[in-house]
Amino acid sequence: MIRTRFAPSPTGYLHVGGLRTALYSYLFAKKNKGKFLLRIEDTDRERYVADGVANILKSLYWACVVPDEGVILDKEEITQKGKNGPYVQSQRLDIYKEHAEKLLADGHAYYCFCTPERLTQLREQQTAKKMPTGYDGHCLSVNPEEAKKRAKSGERCVVRLKMPKSGETVFNDMIRGEVRFKNELVDDQVLMKSDGYPTYHFAVVVDDHLMEITHIIRGEEWISSVPKHLQIYKYFGWEVPEMAHLPLLLNPDKSKLSKRQGDVAVEDYMKKGYLPEALVNFVAFLGWNPGTEKEMYTLDELVADFDFSKVGKTGAVFNVDKLNWFNKQYLKNLSNKDLVKIATPWLAEAGIDIDNKIIEGAVGLERERIEVLSELPEAIKFVFNLPDYNAGLLVWKKSTADEVKNILPKLAEFMNTISVRDWNKEKLEEKIGEWVGQNGYSTGSVLWPMRAALSGQEKSPGPFEIAEVLGKDAVLERINLAIGKLSN
Ligand code: GLU
Repeated sequence: MIRTRFAPSPTGYLHVGGLRTALYSYLFAKKNKGKFLLRIEDTDRERYVADGVANILKSLYWACVVPDEGVILDKEEITQKGKNGPYVQSQRLDIYKEHAEKLLADGHAYYCFCTPERLTQLREQQTAKKMPTGYDGHCLSVNPEEAKKRAKSGERCVVRLKMPKSGETVFNDMIRGEVRFKNELVDDQVLMKSDGYPTYHFAVVVDDHLMEITHIIRGEEWISSVPKHLQIYKYFGWEVPEMAHLPLLLNPDKSKLSKRQGDVAVEDYMKKGYLPEALVNFVAFLGWNPGTEKEMYTLDELVADFDFSKVGKTGAVFNVDKLNWFNKQYLKNLSNKDLVKIATPWLAEAGIDIDNKIIEGAVGLERERIEVLSELPEAIKFVFNLPDYNAGLLVWKKSTADEVKNILPKLAEFMNTISVRDWNKEKLEEKIGEWVGQNGYSTGSVLWPMRAALSGQEKSPGPFEIAEVLGKDAVLERINLAIGKLSN
């Protein structure tokens, strides 16, 4: 069975790059009727953030990229599921210790007692001589029995991997094909730190093996670590999973995607009012494309069509305009009723009464004009509260104040004769159109002040659409208010 995993470190929030990694892992597992796991890699205690795990889970579940096994949410509670747990690395310290001892006993790893000061000095010397930096193997010369005694007696030490210093490590990446590394350039990686925690490099290998991961899918930044990892697999005699290293995400100027140029946390996009379907659809295309014209993909369609042979090697540009385009497409597909439902948190926060009987009509007026849900309250608030505007707004650029003063009362009078039964935008347009023609007015000199009176804004949807939503009474009230402003 295919088993993939997403293995975030709980350092605060889910990065959009992390969402892509999780998504591809999820898609690949689902496509192959496999399992998608979530493991928490929290061995770097300095970078640990208390709500980190909750934030990551919240974002993943929002995006519907839901794990089958590992750390999961059960009725909003964080829990763990599966027979290969625990799935949180800080709860697996004994397992790493045991495995490190095995490597030590077999002579594949060694204790290192070098002080941080010595290591800093070494690095400085290497840098000064323009040599590659890395551990110089100093503690390899300590007799293993002696070293064991010193470690047992509590002397501060780490455990390092004995990396062969000649030959090459070669592996086949699902995206990049054959990748080669010279072993002499690979450091004797620390496997166990002096605080008793494993490093990422050690824990990831032990866990991927014990959790029976068949395919490792992760960001390109980890590719240079693969030789160390493969050496650990080799020493243990374990089968190596397949690997896919995803291309970097780039800013539009082709630099590495960074906070400085825009939002990178999934929760930022949640808060702005992107639909999860839109963000997932957009993120799926960051590196992958189906090779056809089709762009709109549901999660299920992605499962069906996703394929690593169509994931590129070159960096993928994170283009917010494209994301906005996707979001608009998904917004378009919602009914007004559903739009109100999903926009409720934003509407309610802005003090808009979502139980108002014209709320659906109001969102319908602006739905095509907004890109994200957080723009909706501002866009529709004129429907509920007419902004205070100056009489000048009522005068169309090709008209005069006198002409508006003359026309608006007549328009109000005429509109009053239109029955409530006919109060819809088509009928209003037809009737008012006829009336304009019969009276020899120009269209703009009637529709501009009508629209301005109804919206109180320089820009707004068309007058008939607004009139339908507001209803007859409110419309007449707003036009009369405009007439009042003109006579002041
Ligand atoms: N914990 C690593 C991270 O935060 C996971 C890398 C991997 O998937 O192996 O990116």
